[in-house]
Amino acid sequence: NVAFFINEIEKQKHLNAFNFIFDDAIKIADKIESKIKAGTAGKLAGMVIAIKDVLAIKDKPLTCSSNILKNFEAIYTATAVQKLIDEDAIIIGKTNCDEFAMGSSNENSAFGKVLNPFDNQRVPGGSSGGSAVAVAANLCDVSLGTDTGGSIRQPAAFCGVYGLKPTYGKVSRYGLTAFASSFDTIGPFAKSIDDIALVLEVISGYDEKDSTSFNDEQKIYLEKISEPQKFKIGLPKEYFSSGLNEEIKKLINNKIEIIRSLGHETVEISLPNTEYSIATYYILTTAEASSNLARYDGAHYGFRSNDASNLNEMYTNSRTEGFGNEVKRRIMLGTYVLSSGYYDAYYRKAQKVRRLLKNDFDNAFNDVDIILTPTTPNVAFKIGEKSNDPLSMYLEDIYTTSANLVGIPGLNIPIGFNSENLPVGMQLMTNQFNELKILQLAKQLS
Ligand code: GLN
Repeated sequence: NVAFFINEIEKQKHLNAFNFIFDDAIKIADKIESKIKAGTAGKLAGMVIAIKDVLAIKDKPLTCSSNILKNFEAIYTATAVQKLIDEDAIIIGKTNCDEFAMGSSNENSAFGKVLNPFDNQRVPGGSSGGSAVAVAANLCDVSLGTDTGGSIRQPAAFCGVYGLKPTYGKVSRYGLTAFASSFDTIGPFAKSIDDIALVLEVISGYDEKDSTSFNDEQKIYLEKISEPQKFKIGLPKEYFSSGLNEEIKKLINNKIEIIRSLGHETVEISLPNTEYSIATYYILTTAEASSNLARYDGAHYGFRSNDASNLNEMYTNSRTEGFGNEVKRRIMLGTYVLSSGYYDAYYRKAQKVRRLLKNDFDNAFNDVDIILTPTTPNVAFKIGEKSNDPLSMYLEDIYTTSANLVGIPGLNIPIGFNSENLPVGMQLMTNQFNELKILQLAKQLS
């Protein structure tokens, strides 16, 4: 199995999905093989998993696809990854992504762009583009990505696979390189919903190393995924308005018909503050990023500029040379919205809008179990199409950022292809820690 995947990765090298492949994977697979024979292997025995290169694995490179972490190796392992290893998964390597997970196209990477396997002229989505491609192109069984504003769900949609962003706090962030700490989540990509359920079961739970992690009661997913539950499903009118591509709308409407025929109830709902979600997201996440990325100063981690005659110059030049343009743009935006004089106008106001968005969803979940929406307004776009227009890139996140602002789970499920044979996805959201509901509905639709 591992040898097969390593061979496939080599064959499909042009996709550029991986930053690093682990040489020790085959040896580990052999060990697990004997455990399987002895009947002592864990729940994930033999499952081959790729890890986004923002998650720490002891003694392995951790670059976040940034030059500033070039040659940096992690000194401990992220809890989510350790839990996979403890259940005898085989970690095959680290996947490419947008630098520090900032982007929607995987074009912002020091390791170069990743190609969409369905059309090599197009982006795979981002920021977890490598993780989505690794699963879609059959380079591993499952992968982990991270989702701060859509970075699991959007590339999953662009590559035609399942991708789950769990409830904030459900999976420990220990060992995840921080982008926007109050938004960041870790979740799986897979070709089957059962694999999503199984991996979620393994990686979730309280961790004393992350004080925002939480142990909810719901932990058994795979066993319950086929229970024939019926749900009340809300269709928020703001998510089906003019910006949505007609072909995507049609495919979703077909699915909604199927959902009704399975005996679920659907109702139109309203999430009135939706139009503010992107602005709120980019104010708050850039603020958090500007603070989180202050640690890359040329002294503590990775890259240091040679071109400096004093300490301040060393800081400045290390950051100037080490960070890519998108990361610099976010640091500047974040510093601006947090600066005195602008804090009240931007940061504080955005926090208030975050609460209003939360109220929208709380109201909706008083009535419905699940909210169904598109994952993205369009299918995968062309490489280069939006890279010089950050605002149009940000607008692609219209349907995904709310779940992170509010902390709820969101799942992309693949629902077919458009007329150009490009994958189309649909998003299921539910209230905090109710992952089982969206897994069950996805299972019924699979
Ligand atoms: N595309 C969004 C951004 O650029 C989401 C990124 C993410 O979820 N990591 O911020």
